[in-house]
Amino acid sequence: MRSFFSTLLLLNWGLLLILILLAAGVIAVEDYLSNSLKPLLFFSYILIAIFGTFYVSFTIARKVTDPLSLIENKTKDINAGDFGVELPSPEILELAQLTSSINEMAKRLKNQFLDLTVEKEKFNSLLQNLKEGVFAIDFNNKFLFLNRNIPESIISQNSQFKDIRSAVKNRELLQFIETKVAKKAEGKTEFQEGSHFYNARLYPIKSNDIVYLYIGVILDITEDRQNQLVREQFFQNASHELKTPITSIKGYAETLHYRLKLEDGSNEKKFLDAILRNTERLVRIVEDMLTISRLENHKTILQTESFQLYELVKNVRDSVGVILSNKNQNLIIEIEKTMRVQADLVLMEHVLVNLISNASAYSPENSNIVVFAKEVNEKYLLEVRDNGIGISPEDSERIFERFFRVDTNRSRKEGGTGLGLSIVKHIARLHAGEVYVRPNPEGGSIFSFEFPKK
Ligand code: ADP
Repeated sequence: MRSFFSTLLLLNWGLLLILILLAAGVIAVEDYLSNSLKPLLFFSYILIAIFGTFYVSFTIARKVTDPLSLIENKTKDINAGDFGVELPSPEILELAQLTSSINEMAKRLKNQFLDLTVEKEKFNSLLQNLKEGVFAIDFNNKFLFLNRNIPESIISQNSQFKDIRSAVKNRELLQFIETKVAKKAEGKTEFQEGSHFYNARLYPIKSNDIVYLYIGVILDITEDRQNQLVREQFFQNASHELKTPITSIKGYAETLHYRLKLEDGSNEKKFLDAILRNTERLVRIVEDMLTISRLENHKTILQTESFQLYELVKNVRDSVGVILSNKNQNLIIEIEKTMRVQADLVLMEHVLVNLISNASAYSPENSNIVVFAKEVNEKYLLEVRDNGIGISPEDSERIFERFFRVDTNRSRKEGGTGLGLSIVKHIARLHAGEVYVRPNPEGGSIFSFEFPKK
């Protein structure tokens, strides 16, 4: 294999050598020819020279243009996704190097293309076999893909590349998608279609703050909902069924206590006191169970009004005064007197009583409890801070579950029902807000209750 330059030189020198040899031959035979044949000899020599030059130029051009046109066709094929067979190696070194690079590139592209196809297949089979319904929407509100687990009654099948307005059949879901897409925000919602309940989530996929895709996930939560309903129903029935007998036991125990006038220190008095103490605890548990049932079944309708938070906290401080003074604790209010909130006054009182009683119950004597509130952007934030025993991060989520206690004995001793924080969580939800706990940097816990301004 030679470079283009040396091939050119070689062919030209070869031609020159042949022409010189021919010229020498012509000169040698010239003397033996008659004068009439000499012009023919010269003419033949010139013809051979012209033809030789033409042949050499043609050969050089073919050596370059043939491989170049092969390369051109090959790049067109690659562009069209056809990787075909390898190009043959041309004789000219520079073109051979170019051909080998193109062959390498085609091989690499073919492998990458195969890898991509395999990945796409894997992704597709994963997507189609998911329990959840999954879809993607582009920035023009058109479906890019949907898997087969989305019920036809929610989004029409074969809706790829269709506009969401024509493809999404469930109105609640469509409204949810449209609002989230308009705000370029992620979100979740629950909706009903026929006798089924669904949970939907939407996530914007961003690059450099530009949303180019939304991924949606739909999950059938009918079974969970039904289980939850059964649990709620049981809770509601149990609390209703327990209320009457417990009230009656309490009444009889109080009558006995009043009538028998038992001697202090006698076993009978100790037994009756224990019955009274425990029935009071049971009454509190049943009352809390009923409160939760009412909140869960949406029987409690929010009656919001505008009021001064400072005044409410001051009233609550007075009503839990005995609890605080028993442990010589001090309640500090850090709230602007003029701060007004729009909320359900009775339920907010419930929240404050629960959080302040807990702060007192789980803090040592002579400690301070701070109630702090402020407006943060579009939200109200209310905090109850204590310097008590604190809550470990593992328990921070669980304490809002019904009957969950970190230390059951201590909770019982403090007269707790294990339902207070569950009630607070329900009230937060009713106000479209949330409640959470974090460690107090000064020791103890900070309970935050926040909800949006309406
Ligand atoms: P309880 O009636 O037992 O206080 P709650 O639902 O009010 O029930 O609270 C659940 C559990 O959370 C409590 O038993 C206690 O272990 C923990 N807890 C609640 N408030 C505090 C607090 N301020 N400091 C430490 N632990 C707390």
